[in-house]
Amino acid sequence: MTFTPISVDDYVQLCIKHNPSIDAPTLRQGLKSALEAHKNDQRCACGNELWVIGSAHGGRTCYDCFAGKKAPDFACEIKAAIRVSFIKERRRYMNEMFSGGTGTYRNDDGTEIDMDSVKKPAFCLRCENDDDPCMEILCNLTRCDREEGEEFTCGAFRKREE
Ligand SMILES: [Zn+2]
Repeated sequence: MTFTPISVDDYVQLCIKHNPSIDAPTLRQGLKSALEAHKNDQRCACGNELWVIGSAHGGRTCYDCFAGKKAPDFACEIKAAIRVSFIKERRRYMNEMFSGGTGTYRNDDGTEIDMDSVKKPAFCLRCENDDDPCMEILCNLTRCDREEGEEFTCGAFRKREE
């Protein structure tokens, strides 16, 4: 399924144009909560990823289950939701590539690293790579290498645009 991206504003306007009785704040709230659910990897009962536009009305559904099998193979989806799906897809791919799908990081001696114990320095939050799923594993490994108490620097640092 390839979705056509649409912004929340454009989508809300479009809905109201077709159905003036729609309450914009309620619709916005519905979209926001569906997007949150999608970020947290809530799924449709069938196991597919959520369709945020269809899920905005309370249910948690994918496009196929919402629209039925005969639905056209094109539909709109909120831009941010498409980005969430893209990032999740890249993460899955990178995890397959680098840790055999287990998502487990190991030290050079083979011992497992508890990623929850590796804190993300404020330094990283100012870096563009923090948004880039392709960089996530590399960044995690760099952070693992950090010595206790040492000031954190990183060769891959790219300053975020303000
Ligand atoms: Zn479904």
